[in-house]
Amino acid sequence: AIIFEGIEKSFGSLKVLQGISGEIHRGEVVAIIGSSGCGKSTLLRCFNRLETINDGRLVVNGIDLSRPKLNQKQLRRLRAQVGMVFQQFNLFPHLSVLENLMLAPRLVLGKSGSQIEEQARFYLEKVGLVEKAKAYPEQLSGGQKQRVAIARSLCMNPQIMLFDEPTSALDPELVGEVLVVMQQLAEEGMTMVVVTHEMQFARDVAHRVFFMDRGCVAEQGSARAVLTQPKSDRLRTFLSRMN
Ligand code: ATP
Ligand code: MG
Repeated sequence: AIIFEGIEKSFGSLKVLQGISGEIHRGEVVAIIGSSGCGKSTLLRCFNRLETINDGRLVVNGIDLSRPKLNQKQLRRLRAQVGMVFQQFNLFPHLSVLENLMLAPRLVLGKSGSQIEEQARFYLEKVGLVEKAKAYPEQLSGGQKQRVAIARSLCMNPQIMLFDEPTSALDPELVGEVLVVMQQLAEEGMTMVVVTHEMQFARDVAHRVFFMDRGCVAEQGSARAVLTQPKSDRLRTFLSRMN
């Protein structure tokens, strides 16, 4: 679970998160929507400590991220438990698909040999790409690269997966294959926080939707409530621009 209370984050004099509170439960899928620059990525990055909060309380899977300093052990535990998938897939270009999947379990978890290869193949199968095990990232389509990136995250056996606009860099015809993989993950009970512009995915897959506006969660509730019964003009305007 992720628990956050009054979290604030500034970059210099720019206050990007203005005291946000909320809770994301185990097994829950939360979609975060909102206009460009409202702080979606920043909030997500706080959840795995790519950003450090300036104020408030943040606890992720029992790890207290409110403190300005974490020790190496806590940081490593957090990074293993919380996976993240970015808009740009960030695969290692000089490594094959299989090597991309095996790298972190080897380096971070200290696992070795046939066990991690077996696991890598298991997750490649899950995302429908076993036949690409020996391929290099440049030989893959955007949708395939993103599915590899998801499989790579899963190889760490995370308990929470963060997605930051995972389909925004893809050609429209490749979006679906990535959303299918994410939907499957959601159905298996993964805790997921997904920043997305895919309103249909939010409607069909997310249990709850957060609408962020200027550094605050302006509205939150069931996907149906937020997406079909907006309370504020700003959300109404945002939704009308999306459809
Ligand atoms: P988008 O939909 O365009 O991805 P976003 O909602 O994800 O937008 P953020 O990336 O969280 O927005 O950025 C929120 C604000 O914080 C923006 O004004 C951005 O310019 C600023 N910002 C983000 N990261 C930094 C940084 N490292 N240094 C300074 N300013 C930053
Ligand atoms: Mg962003």
